[in-house]
Amino acid sequence: MSYYNKRVEPLPQEHIDTWECTKDDCNGWMRKNFSIGESVQCPFCNSDMKSGTRFINGLSNTAPYTKAASSNTK
Ligand SMILES: [Zn+2]
Repeated sequence: MSYYNKRVEPLPQEHIDTWECTKDDCNGWMRKNFSIGESVQCPFCNSDMKSGTRFINGLSNTAPYTKAASSNTK
């Protein structure tokens, strides 16, 4: 049998605004949605964070984001 029982669909990628930790050996980052203000510190190392962008899996912990995009029927 060579049928594909499972359909493998490409994971949706969402382009989001982020804060990126400026420390080289720290992977800290957060979504801008979750932060308030123009500057933030990394929650892990307290370094300054810079504005950035990321592509992330739209199905992982981005429910509010994807919901807003798919139920925009107002
Ligand atoms: Zn950091």
